[in-house]
Amino acid sequence: ATPTALMVGTGRSAKMGILIKNGEVLEKVNDLTTVVFDKTGTITRGKPEVTDIVGDHKQVLSLAASLEANSEHPLATAILAMAKTEGVQTAAVTDFQAIEGKGVRATINGQTAFIGNDKLLADYPITPDLKQRVAQLQAAAKTVVFVGLADQVIGLIAIQDTPKVTSRAAIAALKKRGLKTVMLTGDNQRVAQAIADQVGIDSVIADVLPADKANHVKALQQAGDVAFVGDGINDAPALTVADVGIAMGSGTDIAIESGGIVLVKNDLRDVDRALAISRKTFNRIK
Ligand code: ADP
Ligand code: MG
Repeated sequence: ATPTALMVGTGRSAKMGILIKNGEVLEKVNDLTTVVFDKTGTITRGKPEVTDIVGDHKQVLSLAASLEANSEHPLATAILAMAKTEGVQTAAVTDFQAIEGKGVRATINGQTAFIGNDKLLADYPITPDLKQRVAQLQAAAKTVVFVGLADQVIGLIAIQDTPKVTSRAAIAALKKRGLKTVMLTGDNQRVAQAIADQVGIDSVIADVLPADKANHVKALQQAGDVAFVGDGINDAPALTVADVGIAMGSGTDIAIESGGIVLVKNDLRDVDRALAISRKTFNRIK
C-alpha cells in the first residue's frame, strides 16, 4: 500500500475510536488467522458480583473481606462491596501475601487464612458434597473461591461476571471471516467453557497462570498470525508477543502501551472493523 493509503486507513479507523499505531500494524491485521481473548474485562464486563455464599454467611464473608482488604483483584472488589453493603465486621491481618493467579494468604489472630482457587487447596480437604456444589456453580459460569482458616475450608464464595452485550456479535463476525477464536484465562476450565458457550468462542485455554499467557500465544503462532486482545497488567507480555496486540481503552496503562491497536470505545466489534479497514487498504493496492 502507498503511504497515502496507509494514512487513509489509520485515519479512518482513528475516527471510529480504533487507534492503530502505524501502517505496519494495519498490514499485519490483514494476515491474522487467530484472535485470542482475555476473559475478565475483555469478553466479560470485568465487574464481578457475589452471587452465592456457602457456609456460615457472616463468618465466610467476614473472613473473605478481611483477606481481600489489601487486594486489587476484581474478585476482591466484589467481595468488599458485598461486605460493605451488609456492614460485616472485618479483622486485621498480618503477613498479607497476594499469590498471582491463585489468591491471597494472610495471618488472622495467629491463624493462617486464605481465599482463592483450588491451586491453593493442596493441604485442605474438601468433602464430596462441597466438591459437587463447586461443580454446579462453575457450570453456571460462576467463579468459585474457597475460604479457609487454620486447616479447614470454612466456605465458598461464588462470583459472577457477565459477558458484555456486544461480545457475542463480535465473535460471530470474526468467525464469519474464517478466523479462529480462543479464550485465554486464569479462571477455572468449567467457568471459562460456560462463558465461551455464551459468546460462541471456538476454544478455551483455562487455568493459565499470568506468567504463562505469552507462552500460550507463542504456541498458537505455530499455526499462523495471532492477535491477542486484553486489558490487564498481566496481559502486557501476551500483547507484546502477539503479531497484533489489541488493548481495551479501559485497560491498565501498561496494557494500552503494549498494544499496537487500542479500542477506545471498549467495543469488541471494533476488532472486526479494524480487519475490514485493513482488508480494504491492502487488497486494493497490492
Ligand atoms: P483472569 O485471567 O481471569 O484475569 P487471574 O489470573 O487474575 O484471572 O486469576 C485467576 C484465578 O485466581 C481467579 O479466578 C481466582 O480463582 C484466583 N484469584 C486470584 N486473585 C484472587 C484474589 N485476590 N482473591 C480470590 N481469588 C483470587
Ligand atoms: Mg482481564
